[in-house]
Amino acid sequence: MDVKVLGAARQVGRSAFLVSHKETSILLDYGALTTKVPGFPMHVQPKQVRAIVLSHAHLDHSGAAPIYFLGGKVKLHSTPVTAELSSLLIQDFIKISGQYLPFEFIDLMSMNNSTVSHGYLEPFQIGDLTLEFFDAGHIPGSCITSVEGGSKRLLYTGDINGNETNLLKPSWKSLGEADMVITESTYATADHPERSAVEKEFVDFANAVIERGGVLLVPAFSVGRAQEIAMVLYNHGFKHPVSMDGMALKVNEILLRYQEYLKDPELLRRTLESTEQLVSWSQRRSVVKRPSVIVSPAGMLVGGASVFYNERLARDEKNAIAIVSFQVPGTAGRTLLDKGLTILNGKPTKVKAEVRRFDFSSHSGKSILIDDLKKVKGSPMFLTVHGEEESCISLADVLHQDMGVEARAVVAGEEFHV
Ligand SMILES: [Zn+2]
Repeated sequence: MDVKVLGAARQVGRSAFLVSHKETSILLDYGALTTKVPGFPMHVQPKQVRAIVLSHAHLDHSGAAPIYFLGGKVKLHSTPVTAELSSLLIQDFIKISGQYLPFEFIDLMSMNNSTVSHGYLEPFQIGDLTLEFFDAGHIPGSCITSVEGGSKRLLYTGDINGNETNLLKPSWKSLGEADMVITESTYATADHPERSAVEKEFVDFANAVIERGGVLLVPAFSVGRAQEIAMVLYNHGFKHPVSMDGMALKVNEILLRYQEYLKDPELLRRTLESTEQLVSWSQRRSVVKRPSVIVSPAGMLVGGASVFYNERLARDEKNAIAIVSFQVPGTAGRTLLDKGLTILNGKPTKVKAEVRRFDFSSHSGKSILIDDLKKVKGSPMFLTVHGEEESCISLADVLHQDMGVEARAVVAGEEFHV
């Protein structure tokens, strides 16, 4: 089997890997770098590619895939949840960044029509390759992908969370033997704080904000994080109103149709039943006037209803904004977190609302990531990707030292044979 690194080399973004065996070549992910002007992985001619296999729906793994589908010959393989969620996210991507993208809505339609879905633990064939998905625990439908060609086996972690959350089970641990592992490195240098402590701190904070008469805005990604936050509040018996807005509501509908991909679908259903859905501007204008929690995309305050709520709530010190995910440098969310500034009436303005950060990451922290990788049998070679440069290098060093195996923080364009 031959593997070529096309992206996600020493950075988070544009994940893409070309895997070839005999006459069959496939792409594992084909994602975008979701900066203001998006970036893309190295290109491979569509006629060389038989299929794209998506690890999960996030745009840094799926966002450049539509360019392969206009000819109608390439197939997309993913879990059914990933197929629906990636289509939803790419539609939004076209709306926001369409002028910079090398594909249009019609390409996405063609991609949707070329999709073949597979559940976890259901091996399938693409030409000379045999593939299988395992739950990655990162977002609903996310998977670790196994690719077998001849006597060799490659594992690709995609994005992985070894710890369970309220929404999802932990990643699948029995991954067997491999000759090569392509692993994410997002948090390879840091452990997350203990989850139960973060949850308690967050719920205490929400209660305190409401008891002082304020509104708590939680800008949250529509896939996974918005539902997780609502479930944390519900699980802790939160007594005050919680509402949800934007694309998260569409995602809720999809998730409730694919219950086997959730840890406790009944808990999600009850949580959402107790959550008010905000769908009109009259609702949005009135909800900011009463003490409550508003969970709304976009997670980095770039587009979506969270921008409106931020503008309405930022000026009053009774209110608060809880940042619950990583904020990319240059986004409004990052500026708010680092400098306490937001744009009001076109001007950077000091925010009076209290701003707090909570670590609800959906990636494995350092210890569990390394522990899980060490469980892969067969002394595989590791390629560390999808992390800042120092994270990729550090993870490769640790794996090499602890396991005595070859481990490389790869660069784009590097090719390997196993
Ligand atoms: Zn992801």
